[in-house]
Amino acid sequence: MTTVGAALAAARAKLPASEARLLLGHVLGRQAAWLIAHDDEVLDEDALLNFASLAARRAGGEPVAYLVGQREFFGREFAVSPAVLIPRPETELLVEVALANIAAADAPRILDLGTGSGCIAITLALECPQAQVSAVDSSEVALAAARRNAAQRGGHVRFLHSDWYAALAGECFDLIVANPPYIAASDSHLVAGDLRHEPLAALSSGSDGLEAIRRIIAAAPAHLAPGGQLWLEHGYDQAEAVHELLAAAGLAGIEGHRDIAGIMRVSGGRLR
Ligand code: GLN
Repeated sequence: MTTVGAALAAARAKLPASEARLLLGHVLGRQAAWLIAHDDEVLDEDALLNFASLAARRAGGEPVAYLVGQREFFGREFAVSPAVLIPRPETELLVEVALANIAAADAPRILDLGTGSGCIAITLALECPQAQVSAVDSSEVALAAARRNAAQRGGHVRFLHSDWYAALAGECFDLIVANPPYIAASDSHLVAGDLRHEPLAALSSGSDGLEAIRRIIAAAPAHLAPGGQLWLEHGYDQAEAVHELLAAAGLAGIEGHRDIAGIMRVSGGRLR
């Protein structure tokens, strides 16, 4: 007979305690607090086998978020699959900066480029219900995931299949946000650890990692309303390059914001 406590203790040989709890909680449909309070609850055979299988896959490198099918972002759960990037805590900074900058706007038109799971667009729609939010992705599978998340969370977002702005000819926005791919193709992180399991198109962008960012910034002025703002997440060492690209595109009020690790991670500017 194996108890919750014994199963978690055995998994500690391979996994951090927090990950083991997430996986066992997923198998049992319980929160971590329940597991802690039910240490001596006996697990049935099915639960044990499922847990052992998930723990082995996690030990083999599969991200916990894919194994349990969800990840928390800005206080809400979002369904994720290997077709979409796993929402990251540092991307909450992009949402915070976006919200701070549209606080005074009446019914801001917002565009999220490369929406993936939809976590940014859906969070903005829920936090700013008067906004009109559009979101695009070049992956139909990602869009299906984003639509499902929007329906589940109750956020109103117009989703479009589009290679960046391609499907948005003639449309202007008060705020454009993006967490584009920004890792250099040669970066060794792409072939190690959890990143191996995430969609490469959502992570990597050209030899310097700036290919997508260049395209997004260059075409932004054609899709920003007067005074409209563009805010982007970028790599830890890309702030200077991004600020130069924003200036070259004629944007004003260029600024960077530091994430909780102190890294300048989100930059933007506005159309004069
Ligand atoms: N911040 C992510 C990472 O380094 C990358 C996400 C992205 O490319 N947009 O894991």
